[in-house]
Amino acid sequence: MSNKTLMLIKPRAVKNNCIGMILNTVNENNFRIAAMKMLQMTKKQAREFYIVHKDRSFYEDLVDFMTSGAIVAVLLEKENAVEDFRTLIGPTNPKEATEGTIRYACGYDIQQNAVHGSDSPENAERECNFFFPYAERF
Ligand code: ADP
Ligand code: MG
Repeated sequence: MSNKTLMLIKPRAVKNNCIGMILNTVNENNFRIAAMKMLQMTKKQAREFYIVHKDRSFYEDLVDFMTSGAIVAVLLEKENAVEDFRTLIGPTNPKEATEGTIRYACGYDIQQNAVHGSDSPENAERECNFFFPYAERF
């Protein structure tokens, strides 16, 4: 069981004024915000962040999209954070998402699906460290 996970609010959701709604949903579902920042990733950072997908056909498109505008990186804490957050966001393709999930509410398509959520405790550890050194956590 992992007690932390990383959320990224992706560029299209930021542009569509979904930040407030997403943070509200996160808090309503008992996640605690332990660190948060708005930034625009460089290509180098995005390639590194998504390195596990480097051989996938969508990798370069994903890097372009994720660097196309501001994102919000949020470190979330809760018991069973990784699994519970994946449930709250819904499947990768928003068209398959059910009502009540963040991707249902704010996703546009399979690439621009509103948010990222860590998929395992090991990746959560790596991804939280990627954006937030311990000194920046509250
Ligand atoms: P998830 O974000 O649900 O964990 P993946 O880790 O498989 O999904 O993929 C990472 C991200 O890459 C997705 O959130 C999405 O933005 C993008 N992506 C995944 N599959 C596709 C696809 N078939 N076409 C375009 N973009 C995709
Ligand atoms: Mg993933």
